[in-house]
Amino acid sequence: MAKKGSLFNDAMKRLNRAMEYTDFNKEIALRVGTPKSCLEVSVPLRRDNGSLEFFRGYRVRHDDTRGPTKGGLRYHPAVTLDEVKSLAFWMTFKCAVVGIPFGGAKGGISVNPKELSPMELERLSREFIRRIADFIGPDVDIPAPDVYTNERIMGWMMDEYSTIRRQHSPAMITGKPVSMGGSVGRSDATGRGAYYCIRELAKRVKLDPAETRIAVQGFGNAGQHVARLLHKDGYRIVAVSDSQGGIYSPGGFDIPSLIRTKEDTRHIKAVYCDGALCHAIEATNLTNAELLELDVDILIPAALENQITAENAPNIKARYIVEVANGPVTSDADTILNERKIEVIPDILANAGGVTVSYFEWLQNRSGYYWELQEIHQKLQAIMSREFEKVYDLALELQIDMRTAAYVHALKRLGETMEAKGTSSYFSNEKVP
Ligand code: NAD
Repeated sequence: MAKKGSLFNDAMKRLNRAMEYTDFNKEIALRVGTPKSCLEVSVPLRRDNGSLEFFRGYRVRHDDTRGPTKGGLRYHPAVTLDEVKSLAFWMTFKCAVVGIPFGGAKGGISVNPKELSPMELERLSREFIRRIADFIGPDVDIPAPDVYTNERIMGWMMDEYSTIRRQHSPAMITGKPVSMGGSVGRSDATGRGAYYCIRELAKRVKLDPAETRIAVQGFGNAGQHVARLLHKDGYRIVAVSDSQGGIYSPGGFDIPSLIRTKEDTRHIKAVYCDGALCHAIEATNLTNAELLELDVDILIPAALENQITAENAPNIKARYIVEVANGPVTSDADTILNERKIEVIPDILANAGGVTVSYFEWLQNRSGYYWELQEIHQKLQAIMSREFEKVYDLALELQIDMRTAAYVHALKRLGETMEAKGTSSYFSNEKVP
């Protein structure tokens, strides 16, 4: 894995490259080049055995030019301020790419949640909300789930926030259980959004599902759903993995059975080693590094950032990479992949389905009127297909890669709003509005 310290620099490189293709005042890059505010908190946890421990927690609001800030909360030992700042930056661009009226934020706790009991997890989550309550809110900053957080945790957080504010506040967080004001269709929205992008790509480059081999790194929420939907359309999902390792079968896996077995055993390796599928399907174990370098048509990194770096980019054999994870490809790797004509559908577009349905959830909470699943799917598909087309066409028009095109597309929306508020061009009378 590449060094974490490079993440925010990577984000800036991409921003500067995209700025070359816009004629906005350079002030725009300055404004989005630094987060609006960063909060670091110490979160105490009384363990079940009576001992007291403290964990570092973060919430970064990157930019609220286009609306309240929005972004997930991650529980992972590797969470750092640099990582959270980069993820918050990406959220600003992600919301702008799909045209939803939010800015970007992100947060998390540096903790290994797998080492906590369910009650410890609840206490930690509620305490975190008590520490950041003045920094967030339905019109200010709205958290959501991310790696190793889920709808139950969002429910505890909403409950805690409502207790603090002494009012029912469902719109303060998204990704809640449906019974607590969550939206139907939120749980598979990220994977579904990526699936709609792949469908659009398939139309343009004429992919035949039965002939298209796909590898998915990270078989969690996002990875499982994109694999399930693609499998349903007849695509061949030949490899999947989780943090323990992966499995490979050139003929393709039956994804619904894999999901069921993974739910029962919790490890993808067990599906092959211990589960009944071991006897039914010919499959081999492989490492996450090997999965990335498989000879496939589409590679879907859906785990963590910095997976494809300058080291392994020369060995990638996929024709397309669809970034379901945030930041799985480093900017050094971008250069190599571009030279090798490997097309990357960038994270700020490919995984924007999650925040889009989060926006729908926020709208439903605020209006008190709840939509049917079919309506969610139709509206999500309309947004993802429309924005994919815009980014794809912009890339063709400017002869640039899709990542840069997505940033240019987002910058147009951000830049217009910032210019409307006034930049040095306006105040120095260079340009009359
Ligand atoms: P998750 O916790 O449900 O799943 C993560 C998966 O990755 C798990 O299967 C885990 O075992 C696996 N994993 C962890 N470390 C790994 C490693 N080193 N190699 C291979 N696999 C590894 O998380 P998720 O919600 O599916 O998020 C996955 C990615 O998608 C993250 O980058 C997240 O930021 C991004 N994302 C998620 C959403 C969402 O709505 N869930 C939205 C946008 C982006």
